[in-house]
Amino acid sequence: MDITDIIAPLNEAQREAVTAPDRSLLVLAGAGSGKTRVLVHRIAWLLRAEGVSPHAILAVTFTNKAANEMKARIEALLELSTQGLWVGTFHGLAHRFLRRHAPEAGLPEGFQILDSDDQYRLIRRLLKTLELDEARWPPRQIQWYINTQKDEGRRARNLPDSYDPFEQQMRRIYLAYEELCQRSGLVDFAELLLRTHEFLRDNADALAHYQERFQHVLVDEFQDTNSVQYAWLRLLTQDRDNLSVVGDDDQSIYGWRGAKIENLHRFRRDYPRHRMIRLEQNYRSTGNILSAANALIARNEGRLGKNLWTEGGRGEPISVYAAFNEQDESCFVIERIRRWVEEGGRRSDAAILYRSNAQSRQFEEKLLALGIPYRVYGGLRFFERAEIKDALAYLRLIANHHDDPGFERVINTPTRGIGAKTLDLVRELARFEQLSLWAAAEKLIGDGVLPARAAGALAGFLDLVETMAAAAQGRALWEQVELAVKSSGLLEHYRKEKGEQAEARVENLEELVGAARQFELDPLIDPELGGLDQFLAHAALEAGENQGESCEDCVQLMTLHAAKGLEFNLVFLVGLEEGLFPSLQSLEDPARLEEERRLCYVGITRARRKLYITHAECRRLYGKETYPRRSRFLRELPPDCLEEVRMKGGVSRPVASAMQSADTSAMPGAGARGGFRLGQRVRHGKFGEGVILQQEGDGAQARVHVNFAEVGAKWLMLAYANLEPI
Ligand code: ATP
Ligand code: MG
Repeated sequence: MDITDIIAPLNEAQREAVTAPDRSLLVLAGAGSGKTRVLVHRIAWLLRAEGVSPHAILAVTFTNKAANEMKARIEALLELSTQGLWVGTFHGLAHRFLRRHAPEAGLPEGFQILDSDDQYRLIRRLLKTLELDEARWPPRQIQWYINTQKDEGRRARNLPDSYDPFEQQMRRIYLAYEELCQRSGLVDFAELLLRTHEFLRDNADALAHYQERFQHVLVDEFQDTNSVQYAWLRLLTQDRDNLSVVGDDDQSIYGWRGAKIENLHRFRRDYPRHRMIRLEQNYRSTGNILSAANALIARNEGRLGKNLWTEGGRGEPISVYAAFNEQDESCFVIERIRRWVEEGGRRSDAAILYRSNAQSRQFEEKLLALGIPYRVYGGLRFFERAEIKDALAYLRLIANHHDDPGFERVINTPTRGIGAKTLDLVRELARFEQLSLWAAAEKLIGDGVLPARAAGALAGFLDLVETMAAAAQGRALWEQVELAVKSSGLLEHYRKEKGEQAEARVENLEELVGAARQFELDPLIDPELGGLDQFLAHAALEAGENQGESCEDCVQLMTLHAAKGLEFNLVFLVGLEEGLFPSLQSLEDPARLEEERRLCYVGITRARRKLYITHAECRRLYGKETYPRRSRFLRELPPDCLEEVRMKGGVSRPVASAMQSADTSAMPGAGARGGFRLGQRVRHGKFGEGVILQQEGDGAQARVHVNFAEVGAKWLMLAYANLEPI
């Protein structure tokens, strides 16, 4: 393939960015303007036109999926293998650095990654050990505190002295947590980044090696980097001035997780010779979608400022649907998806985007009922399910016997007669002698202080893990996983249990073996590192992403945060209500409100052809019925880009026009008309008793859809039906 093929499908500004000479580059541009495309083509350009070796390139993407796509696209462009190219997420790449240099980074060879759920459990256990009351020292708050300190690059020992007793205690907990992790060979997410930074900073030889090796470092979604991430990019590139970043300040949505928009300004200061390029043409969305996005984001202050335009036509207006309640909302969305598929659309081209994970359930139920395949990103992910975590815990114990959370998790799963008393003794000794649980158990058995039965049961467990470890030697990854699932007794345990759930667990365990087989083919796997360690890291880091890979054409469900960087022909932005989106916590805080607005901007700009926005006038949220006002973001969109829609032929239509309703939807009872509410029981002279399903129209035109026990569902004119409430 020719060089011209790399630059032909680009506009002038993109071409300039792709072929920019060997120094730092900042592409600052709005959504859908081709930033990611520029990054991919720049890598291809460097490899082909500049003759750079794949080994000399480090590229950071936002998700593992994006990394795989990037590799695939480069390979397609160049028709050459990109083996050796380092591309991945910050966490994934940090893991790779640390695996290669564990001893220099002060970690044991078999260190394991602690996901946030395991981290939470570990903190709870630590609080018990420290005899601190969870009510006064909430584990979630401590977890947040520790992660924030790490994201900012602060170790417990470096925190400034404080007279505040609360601060002092937090610091003590942080210190104890660090010691515990170090002892058990555990690395949490924030630690991966911080440890990599420290490793590069403190190991001059290693730093020099990587600085020499990586002639080009490229970063996508740069606006969402945090302090530590910036710090290690800086270390790698400070001498060569070879950092290329692309980003959009309007899409910075991880402030709550420590991301720093200021990194854009810092970059401009730290790399004074950089070239800056702006892209303004949008290739993704229709004119209406783009105008709406532009108008919305213009309300934020302190933007770096840019406007997007498109050569495409205005396209269809954005459809706004005011639902009675969340049931009606999901009916509407699923109905439209059904129609889309009927008309030849691909399911995977349709996405439902929501603010909070809890919103997915209503859509999932309807999709399940109709047998429409779907896939949820995030939420309870495959690798987070209990049985999968059990199996992974065995694997982790095989890799590193001193993995305390793994030990705690499976010592009695499946049950093997190790009593609570014995376990308490193990914990007590571990605490007292600063040992791992494994070492404490060995010592207890060796010292002969346990009653014979207890000692036998405990020794049985240690033997089991050691036998499994020995058997796993030299086997393929999937065989090791299969071994863990079988020899641990987990599979047998769930096979014996009755019921659907147990069946699902058996299937999941089998699927885990399948996932391991699949993983061995993963292009991102580093051939120089052990397969099992990489698989476990993958399970901890990229949990949700590859789930359901077998489902090729399914409807996509995800939070707005997870949708970053993606695009779909058909997008549903649901739940646009005050208190949900923008979230309740942001209503009082202007900075957070702006972040919510950016999130809405991200949501709108995911759509290529058609965007629906929905909101419900009544919503059951966290177990309570609420009557939310429609979101201010909806009101901030220019009316000429919008149209109000109703459901035809079956499902309800909106009560009040989304466009005209002042905020009547804020009033309780706004969902009721003609004296009836959805779900209300009624009696009809001829058809008997039934339940109101839907309502349509006003005044003399008002119709209701009633599900009668005897005769099924019927549409009736309210004026003639003589329905009696019961
Ligand atoms: P986001 O900010 O959402 O991450 P982005 O700036 O990274 O967006 P891309 O995803 O790279 O944008 O591009 C958006 C869409 O426009 C893609 O489908 C891409 O293939 C297409 N595109 C980009 N540039 C061009 C071009 N010059 N000609 C044709 N299509 C293009
Ligand atoms: Mg992008």
